[in-house]
Amino acid sequence: MSLLVVGSMAFDAIETPFGKSDRIIGGAATYIAWSASNFTKPIKQISVVGYDFPQEELDALSARGVNLEGVQIKKDEKSFFWSGKYHMDMNTRDTLDTQLNVLANFVPTVPDSYQDCEFLMLGNLVPAVQMSVIEQLKNRPKLIVMDTMNFWMEIALDDLKNVLTHVDVLLVNDSEARELSHEYSLVKAAKKIMTMGPKYLIIKKGEHGALLFHGDNVFFAPALPLEDVFDPTGAGDTFAGGFIGHLVRTKDISFDNMKTAIIVGSAMASFCVEKFGTERLRGLTKDDIDGRIRQFQELVNFDIELV
Ligand code: AMP
Repeated sequence: MSLLVVGSMAFDAIETPFGKSDRIIGGAATYIAWSASNFTKPIKQISVVGYDFPQEELDALSARGVNLEGVQIKKDEKSFFWSGKYHMDMNTRDTLDTQLNVLANFVPTVPDSYQDCEFLMLGNLVPAVQMSVIEQLKNRPKLIVMDTMNFWMEIALDDLKNVLTHVDVLLVNDSEARELSHEYSLVKAAKKIMTMGPKYLIIKKGEHGALLFHGDNVFFAPALPLEDVFDPTGAGDTFAGGFIGHLVRTKDISFDNMKTAIIVGSAMASFCVEKFGTERLRGLTKDDIDGRIRQFQELVNFDIELV
């Protein structure tokens, strides 16, 4: 049972009220792979990078159990570049620059050795590329999870809506859920989005946790209250990696197990924000992760006797 991950691999430049990074390694698929590889291996990755993407980064991912056969290296183009600036609350950010570069004309090819994947994680990427991967798979995966972003809602909404009709779970943040549904209430937004294709919807609310919707059921996972949030970039992708990683590891896609998966996703995201870029994710041990999940248990566990 293995996991196919599609998404951007990138250079990011990040500004927060507390610091600034130069070009560092980022990208949705990069964060997803670092996170999910704690739970399942191999991860079969599809992405594209340019001549400027460091070989050491690819080697580090390979060493981690990430199969890069589906990652194209374009020798005469630059990697995707994104730059963002966080507001004081660290929950909201402005995109300062998006340079598609290699992503502009990316045509993914699913290697034969990836055809056995039963779980597909469509990380943030051009919706038409996400669709192309679904179309190339000979057997529909057992579960398709999709992440996306306001950027694609603004320039490729029809393509995005088309992908939505093929996925089981959609992950978006609160502002994206509102933009996609034209509803302010997140409950109304969820109902509307679940008529567009996905039967499960996860709405991420940064430091205010995440909501999982399915039919009339709702489940809430808090975010861990942290003293310092250094850089929230990639938290959503890291969450996605933990969420799908847990589902692949347990081979259980029930709503009840998705509740646990969003706690695992939240635990992984809480590590991501503690340092710039992917730095914090690289050295994590099973004990670190188990300890963090235990903190979540303590955070929300209470007994109440109704009289
Ligand atoms: P997150 O903070 O989880 O929303 O993800 C941030 C990551 O998404 C960064 O590492 C960026 O490189 C990547 N990213 C930003 N914009 C896009 C986009 N339009 N398409 C694909 N990936 C993107």
